Amino acid sequence: MLGITGNLKSLFGFGSKAETRQSAPKEEGDPTDSVTLATPEPKPAIIRRKATGIAAEYRDNFDFQDDMKALAQKHPGQVKLFELGRSVQGRVISGMSIGTGPIGLVVTGMMHGCEWTGGEAAFELGKKIAEQRPDLMDKMTLHVVPVSNPDAQEVSRGVLHGYRANVNGVDPNRNWPTNWGTNEITPQKFCHEIGGTGEAPLSEPETQALNKLTGEEYKTKGWLDLHSYGEFFVHPESERPEKYEALIADMQKATSKPYDSMKIQDHQDITGSLAEHCESLGIIAVGAELGTKHQPKGEEREATIQDGVNLGMAFVEHLAKS
Ligand SMILES: [Zn+2]
Repeated sequence: MLGITGNLKSLFGFGSKAETRQSAPKEEGDPTDSVTLATPEPKPAIIRRKATGIAAEYRDNFDFQDDMKALAQKHPGQVKLFELGRSVQGRVISGMSIGTGPIGLVVTGMMHGCEWTGGEAAFELGKKIAEQRPDLMDKMTLHVVPVSNPDAQEVSRGVLHGYRANVNGVDPNRNWPTNWGTNEITPQKFCHEIGGTGEAPLSEPETQALNKLTGEEYKTKGWLDLHSYGEFFVHPESERPEKYEALIADMQKATSKPYDSMKIQDHQDITGSLAEHCESLGIIAVGAELGTKHQPKGEEREATIQDGVNLGMAFVEHLAKS
């Protein structure tokens, strides 16, 4: 596994309460001026790390913010930005909505921070639809969140390339309310090596942020969650198996390599997963494990991301019709 033996708290400032936004400028004569306020805790700034090695081939959270903003400026009315919340350390969790149609669809990347190809594929799928598929734009609205777990992304861009949990040691894909708890392979509550369940369902700011996408305003009918790796699809147990079979068959046709399909329960007996929670809400949810590495280089990087875009497009096309 990751072999973490040092003191993570001191190494990364884990557990610190970060907040980087400036407080709103006060109007003159603001009544709070006269109130003695408690001295705020010192707030560590979110520092942008210079990318080195393999990390230089992948966007960081700042790059994704910049690229989503540029796309929204290029396609006003068709691409809109949204913010869902902040991570444990105060990093922004945000996305872009593509299209104006009545069927809400979601694609998320990097719920596990070290799974970099999913973030790239999620963004590129949104961009491709915005620039090349006007036919889909009035049928559906695709909500794209490239980086669901930005603190772990940042940790994995440093020395711990395999870091997947959030910085509290909770796996964001074991922290959802449906069937939440422990099983043989998910440690209870906290584990910095593979992630635990958390103290309670939706205990973490990252899952609380993503959970907003199940709210009414997003009209979510389908959710594609991009992970790595293994070249297979996972889906929850469902009373409507034929819907999953038809959808996954379309997605399988879109990949350059044969992608297997399995139920979450058959794969690792996972509990508290996003997909199971979506299914309980009537949202059809598929996880895709892209490629054969978390952080492939060069041509393999390109091919893995392209598979993610293509299977994502099949997901969107299939559900935009329904
Ligand atoms: Zn994952």
